[in-house]
Amino acid sequence: METKRKKIVKMKRIPMMPLRGLMIFPHMALHFDVGRPRSVAALEAAMLDEQRIFLVAQKDAETENPGQDDIYQVGTIAQIKQVLNLPGNSLRVLVEGIQRASLKSIIQEDPFWVASVQPIPSSDAAQGNVLQALMRTAQELFEEFARISSRVSEETLRSVSDVNEPDQLSDVIAANVLTRLEDRQAILEEAGVAPRLERLCEILAREIELTGIEKQVQSRLKKQIEKNQKDYYLREQIRAIQEELGENDAAESDALRERLEKLPLNEEAHDKAMRELDRMARMAPGTPEVSVIQSYLEWICDLPWGKYTKDDLNLKRARDILDADHYGMKQVKERVIEYLAVRRMQQQAEQGTVRAPILCFVGPPGVGKTSIVKGIAKAMGRKFIQMSLGGVRDEAEIRGHRRTYIGAIPGRIIAGMKQAGTMNPVFLFDEIDKMGNDFRGDPASAMLEVLDGEQNAAFRDHYLELPFDLSQVTFITTANTKDTIPAPLLDRMEIIEVPSYTEEEKLQIAKRHLLPRVTAEHGLPKGSLHVTDAAIRMMIEGYTREAGVRTLQRTLEHAARKAAVELLENHGKSVTIGKTKVAEYLGAPRYQRELPEKEPCVGVVNGLAYTVVGGETLAVECATMPGSGALRLTGQLGDVMKESAQAALSWIRAHSKEYGLDPDFYKELDIHIHVPEGAVPKDGPSAGVTMVTALLSAVSGRPVRQDVAMTGEITLRGRVLPIGGVKEKLLAAYRAGLHTVLLPKENAKDLEDIPPYVLDTFRIVLTEKIDDVLHVALLPRESEE
Ligand code: ADP
Repeated sequence: METKRKKIVKMKRIPMMPLRGLMIFPHMALHFDVGRPRSVAALEAAMLDEQRIFLVAQKDAETENPGQDDIYQVGTIAQIKQVLNLPGNSLRVLVEGIQRASLKSIIQEDPFWVASVQPIPSSDAAQGNVLQALMRTAQELFEEFARISSRVSEETLRSVSDVNEPDQLSDVIAANVLTRLEDRQAILEEAGVAPRLERLCEILAREIELTGIEKQVQSRLKKQIEKNQKDYYLREQIRAIQEELGENDAAESDALRERLEKLPLNEEAHDKAMRELDRMARMAPGTPEVSVIQSYLEWICDLPWGKYTKDDLNLKRARDILDADHYGMKQVKERVIEYLAVRRMQQQAEQGTVRAPILCFVGPPGVGKTSIVKGIAKAMGRKFIQMSLGGVRDEAEIRGHRRTYIGAIPGRIIAGMKQAGTMNPVFLFDEIDKMGNDFRGDPASAMLEVLDGEQNAAFRDHYLELPFDLSQVTFITTANTKDTIPAPLLDRMEIIEVPSYTEEEKLQIAKRHLLPRVTAEHGLPKGSLHVTDAAIRMMIEGYTREAGVRTLQRTLEHAARKAAVELLENHGKSVTIGKTKVAEYLGAPRYQRELPEKEPCVGVVNGLAYTVVGGETLAVECATMPGSGALRLTGQLGDVMKESAQAALSWIRAHSKEYGLDPDFYKELDIHIHVPEGAVPKDGPSAGVTMVTALLSAVSGRPVRQDVAMTGEITLRGRVLPIGGVKEKLLAAYRAGLHTVLLPKENAKDLEDIPPYVLDTFRIVLTEKIDDVLHVALLPRESEE
């Protein structure tokens, strides 16, 4: 082999063949197919001669018939090792590179190229050890390259490590490492062995680094692709399962988006809703979180954003509506009309910002508070929503729970707004006096925010977490008493007292409103049910004891049910309920006017109290026993009443002489005052006169007239001060069938409102001083008599 590869240095004429996309290094074997006629001819000519050929690369592999300019100037003289005929006049050859050579001139072009070439001897000018070092470096780099790259086979690696000749080493490495034709050509053209090795070392180092990076990128890509594929696969599976189950989340989220886009949301709400929608779209469908977001978005969609009813504030119409459904209530209606008139004026002046006061209707149950508010809504042409605050202790009921709680929902305000379907309904809060508070937070402070016109334009529910405008809502409240309404709330409200009804008023309400309504509601034909006035009076007196008309309404309903049965069973056309029928239908009367038969007795006095359910008689009892001057109080007593008892005792001690008592009478006595349990009196001090009378009777032994009832506050000097609830108290006295009622003189003006039939049944004594009271109520001691 060495002989064959003997280096040639002198100029030489030799057949030439251009190579397309290929080139061959010395010390290297190469297989390729030859098809171009000129190349085939050149090969054949070479075979006939020395079997040597000059192989040179074409600059552009595409050129079919290259000229001298189309080929590089340096090529390789090669030994032809083998030639195989292939079908179609082409040949397959195996050649081995012998030596670099440069093209000097082309001597013949046809039928094949013959070139005159100048062999290039390799110059190993560098010092021996420099070459050695370069060789070792190149070998090490090549090994490293082989390890990380898949391009080098085990066999090549072994053969390279066996090479110990620098010229050969550089060519073998170049042949195995370089891929770009230009790079390979550059190495081929380099005659010096040392520069060639150096260049290769550089290329190898760069290749190693690049291959490393390439590998990292590839493995990262591979992982990413694997993960994407896995996710995709799983999602597809879920989708398939959902389709199987008939659920389709994408459609739902699209529908939600469409609904949300249509709503006139404020900016914050819009952004938030869109964020949640995107979050939902990104989640795997079917997870619990998705349904939480979905129901949240549905809540937003269901709120009446931007929907308003147009106010229709025609006073005449409003009056008609209120009158149509309510008998009496003159002052209340007047007040309501005033309220509506002011609103109308504000609207005309376009002073929407001037806040209307929040009305609060205060009165006993069943006097028509709710019903009048419904009338207001109707008169204004607004939607009506009612929410009871009775027993609401938790702030969350008003403001909702945060969404982090499982099963959280908005508070009742937002729920009410959804139900109303407009941004400006009439929103009634019932029983605002019965709101509690405890460790779960103070609902009153949440209510303050709701009712405060400054804050409620951006009311925030914990669940929605968005500002919602409540400023156009007309809030109205009701209460049984204003005493227990939290002071800051009371501050913001305008109180309208709705008084109890007299028997006569109840009769009229029953005739004009309740009876027609009950008849209709029970499906009885018009005019088929008659109830005589006497029967209604009997129902009021014997079957109800109330300030309003709720029980009366229920009693009428009871009677209507019985009448319906009778009509059907007897095939009758109409039923008339008289007094006897009442007893027949409803059983024996439950209440009776207790006519006073009781004998005067010591230490028991009929007081009159004004309670949350109307007026009541209240028998205050007082007893004495040997002791050491202690005052005991039991029963239904508020702080004010306890003070009244103290004041009463003080007054008696101060006036002991006038009433024939030993000034030290109390020292050897224990005094016990008892106020029977019943409804909580609204006004403690009005029991003042009752306390004094009971006490004095007990300590002096003078009996008290039982057909007398009294009310009045006292001062320490014995003056009688006016009290509230005169109408209610007198109605209670009327029901109890009393003879004489003692009233503070300053309350005389209140008697105008009292119907004559009440005033006619008893004598009213107006009192100025406690002596006036005692004079009427106390009888002389029996012995004195
Ligand atoms: P409240 O809210 O004060 O407890 P409601 O408004 O519920 O009382 O009244 C109870 C019932 O009595 C209702 O059916 C109402 O229509 C009727 N009612 C009360 N007052 C009147 C009145 N003045 N005229 C006609 N119906 C009345």
